[in-house]
Amino acid sequence: MTITVAEHSGFCFGVREALRKTEETIDKKKDNLGKIFTFGPLIHNDSVIEELAQKGVVAIFDFSETKPGDTVIIRSHGETEQFYEEAKKFQINLVDATCPFVKKIHELVKEATKQGYQVIIVGDPNHAEVKGIKGWTQDRGIVVSSIEEAKMVTADSLFVVAQTTIRQSYFDEIVSELQNKNKVLVKNTICNATQDRQKSCMELAKKSDMMIVIGGKNSSNSKKLYEIAKKNCEKSYFVQNKKDLPLKEVTKCNKIGIAAGASSPERIIKEVIAAMSEAIANKELHEEEMNGMDALMDEIEKSLRLPSRGEVVTGEIVHVTNRYIVVNLGCKKDGIIPKEELTLDGDEELTDLFQEGDEIQAKVIKTDDGDGNILLSKKKLEVNEHWDEINEALENKSVVNAKIVKEVKGGVIAVYKEVSGFIPMSQLSDRFVEKADEFIGKVLPVKVSRVDQRRNKAVFSHKAYLSEEKAKKVAEIWEGLNVGDIVEGTVMRFTDYGAFVDIGGLDGLLHISEISWGKLKHPQEALEIGQKVNVKILSMNTEKGKISLGLKQNQPEPWSIIDEKYQVGQVIKGKVVQIKDYGAFVELEPGLDGLVHISEVAYKRVTNIADEISVGQEVDAKILEIDKERKRISLSIKETLEPPIFEENAEEAEAVSEEE
Ligand code: SF4
Repeated sequence: MTITVAEHSGFCFGVREALRKTEETIDKKKDNLGKIFTFGPLIHNDSVIEELAQKGVVAIFDFSETKPGDTVIIRSHGETEQFYEEAKKFQINLVDATCPFVKKIHELVKEATKQGYQVIIVGDPNHAEVKGIKGWTQDRGIVVSSIEEAKMVTADSLFVVAQTTIRQSYFDEIVSELQNKNKVLVKNTICNATQDRQKSCMELAKKSDMMIVIGGKNSSNSKKLYEIAKKNCEKSYFVQNKKDLPLKEVTKCNKIGIAAGASSPERIIKEVIAAMSEAIANKELHEEEMNGMDALMDEIEKSLRLPSRGEVVTGEIVHVTNRYIVVNLGCKKDGIIPKEELTLDGDEELTDLFQEGDEIQAKVIKTDDGDGNILLSKKKLEVNEHWDEINEALENKSVVNAKIVKEVKGGVIAVYKEVSGFIPMSQLSDRFVEKADEFIGKVLPVKVSRVDQRRNKAVFSHKAYLSEEKAKKVAEIWEGLNVGDIVEGTVMRFTDYGAFVDIGGLDGLLHISEISWGKLKHPQEALEIGQKVNVKILSMNTEKGKISLGLKQNQPEPWSIIDEKYQVGQVIKGKVVQIKDYGAFVELEPGLDGLVHISEVAYKRVTNIADEISVGQEVDAKILEIDKERKRISLSIKETLEPPIFEENAEEAEAVSEEE
């Protein structure tokens, strides 16, 4: 619980000064000041008034109650101009404790009246301060306390002031109505002390469960504070002193705010706080006692109650032997955990692992083991935890490590901590497994495929783990590849339309048309299984996961460099690759064929080319023409042959030879 006092609370400057002057006057009494009176109650606070009375200072309301030579103290509200004249007549000593701020208003309205303004005092016509102010306007000032009254003001040239303790919003509303008149001069004379108190009261009320406003029952500023508090905090109370406190309500609240009017002495504020604190402390003490009692009752109840079968209990180890552990469960029976109900590694001794005073958790197996103890098992509790882990792995699709312990029909038994599961043979690897011998004793990462805890059944899959890992690896490789990259691969298998090449865990298709610039009937004409090749990535289809590769791209396209290698007149060696009626095609190199027209096969007249040459035969041929535009090469075999010698030519040749 917290008690917070509003930032601006208690005596204002004016009230404090009035009290100081009064105390000073009392001290001077010995200097023969006659009786001391205050004109009206010095402040709106009964306790202070009572204290003054005990010192012989009482309030009067008429000079007739005085004798010449007596002293009258003017309170902070101030008095009328006429009052001072009266005091002279009665030969009274005056101690003027009018608040300087109020005094200033007197001066303002007096001057305004002199200048012909109609003084308007916004405030309560019955308030002493307002009456006093009016008394400085030759009693011509008009007191306006509502908008209706403001509407009724007919005069122009208004000089508007405020009672020092009214709300700002109240003053603003009335002024805004008065401003409809001609020539209106407004002096906001609301005291800062009042505004500060109202503002801090409002802020505190907003964040409090309860507001206590301290003030005298006749104090206008305290009543206004109460109005503000009530508006912002439903549970707001107006108290004059600690006797008025709603103590029962106070103890029910957590955040209590305190605001005090300008006439509330600090002593009363402190008394109020002390009374509330005491009530709160008493209540807390009572609650503590009750809580202590409850805790004791709980303890007793707990000690009488025995845990039930299956319940998980926590207790303190009170005795350890190598055969069992005794546990104090805080009830009338002890718990026993036999060695076999604990998970141990090899030859571990209980006395090495557990100590008296340690806390241990276990599951109740039997509420009576026959010797009057509660039979407990830590192992069974752990099994539950391990099942929880298995269920979690199923839900999160995470991996657990299971040890393969034996082969059974259709698969193997694998153990994760205290949980046994089945791995079907088909899920033991990503390849075909006929016998599981090689896996027995191994710890394999597995995914959990199914769980039926009620029947103690779980199904694992190592294959699912491998597939996931492979997929991850493929994704990684895929990420690192780009179209245009040249990567090393291994030829894995052939099809009629190409070869599949493994490029580091991922197969790409090397289409037959992309193997060579020449024409192939089957990829094996150019490749061998297991051959290492540098292939270029031609395309990647992310959606289908397909990659197209090219091998011929590692060599320049023959026609692009034909000028560098072949010229007209050059004799080349080539292989006959195709025979047609009109000629034979000779391959100069893969992707570059030339045509030997039938007329260029031999010097003699050829009607069937196949009679002269055959497919696959190697021939010499002379390049007759290279047509780069149409990508055609004309060849001649006969141009590489010796021309035949006819008869007349032979005679001529003979004659020449004889002459020689
Ligand atoms: S409230 Fe302001 S004007 Fe009134 S007595 Fe206090 S200090 Fe003076």
